[in-house]
Amino acid sequence: MAVSVLFFLFGWSMYSQNAAPSSIHQSIQTHTDAIFDGLVNLRRDFHLHPEVAEQEERTAQKIQDFLRSLGLEVKTGIGGHGVVGILKGAKEGKHIAWRADIDALPSDSPDVVDFASENKGVRHICGHDVHTTIGLGMAHVLASQKEHLEGRIYFIFQPAEETYAGAKAMIHDSLFQIIQPEEIYAAHITPSPQGTVFTKPGPLYAYLNAIEINYKSTVQNKGALIDYTKNLLQSFQTVGADSKFWDPRNTLDPEIGLANPNTIFKDYLTLLQDIKVNDSEGKITLSSLINSSDQPQLDALLKNVKAEIMNSKYAKDLLSVVYSYEKDILYNDENLAPLALKSIANIYGAQNAIPLYGVFPGYHGDDFAYFQEEVPGVYFFLGGSNYEKGIISMPHSPTFQVDEECIRTGVNYFSSMLVERLKP
Ligand SMILES: [Zn+2]
Ligand SMILES: [Zn+2]
Repeated sequence: MAVSVLFFLFGWSMYSQNAAPSSIHQSIQTHTDAIFDGLVNLRRDFHLHPEVAEQEERTAQKIQDFLRSLGLEVKTGIGGHGVVGILKGAKEGKHIAWRADIDALPSDSPDVVDFASENKGVRHICGHDVHTTIGLGMAHVLASQKEHLEGRIYFIFQPAEETYAGAKAMIHDSLFQIIQPEEIYAAHITPSPQGTVFTKPGPLYAYLNAIEINYKSTVQNKGALIDYTKNLLQSFQTVGADSKFWDPRNTLDPEIGLANPNTIFKDYLTLLQDIKVNDSEGKITLSSLINSSDQPQLDALLKNVKAEIMNSKYAKDLLSVVYSYEKDILYNDENLAPLALKSIANIYGAQNAIPLYGVFPGYHGDDFAYFQEEVPGVYFFLGGSNYEKGIISMPHSPTFQVDEECIRTGVNYFSSMLVERLKP
């Protein structure tokens, strides 16, 4: 740790002797290049020593040491091992937050990189080692520009994302009394090519609700009732079994993928699992998981299923049609998402900051959703793959890898974006 802090301090002081840059964004890129090798070493150190949710002690210590070495005010132990670094610009102004998640995952499969995890059964296969490093890189780069900044940037390092508990824990532990951001941003590694970022207003990951249809167990022909209800629920699916929708690789397809306005990954409602039947305690319950790209479809489903049953011979047997579980999902601010994306496109090229039209299907989610419920915010996908090098950054895959160039991309793009968003 001491070695890398020295490296960073040295790199920083060397750089800050330069004359005033013609553009703050050129300055950001020059500074990122100067610290890049150190950031790669830092990422590999996190990768060598991964820690699962609620055990991120070493990781949090490294984060706070790093932030203190930059001269930031640091708050620790928020909602477990949460850390916040506060960067104050030369003048007062807007307050904006950047969030990075820091935890790793249980995994017994062998690591695919030379700097393999030394923590048996734990690996960074969701890229949070990269997210943490990008957050620290941004803090480093933006600290070098603080004389030119008006306002404050809060760097939130959140534990326990994988258990969907850490964001909530930080909020319950007074995060938004300690800091008062007006906007909040974050990014996650995705399998798209290194050098690209993506986002859209509204949801990015599909809604995931558990539906329950409850009948009185006194119903005459249980077998027929169960068949009827299974068929009914399946009839509301909008995606056929033979659809290209079911191959996740198609989310990246230029014609039908998420980034094409004609994507097949919009306006959908599907069942994510077989319908289960439970007959106990005086009721028969049929249940499944619903995956949908939008809230109105989910609302309509409950009403329509209920209406169909009430028009059938099973009307008198129906007890209820309810969602027994509704996941809080990411919801990007409608105004901020296009503004934030455009600020990156203007500096780094529209081909690299790409609007999405579709919603990623499946079980994915991010508890950044809870921060967005408190503060308007935007979540980005950051490409981490390099197909020529055979590097595919599919989160939670046992062979997860990233092209570490995405660290440079993330630090540059998102530092610039925050600078633009700080402007009055
Ligand atoms: Zn994950
Ligand atoms: Zn993740």
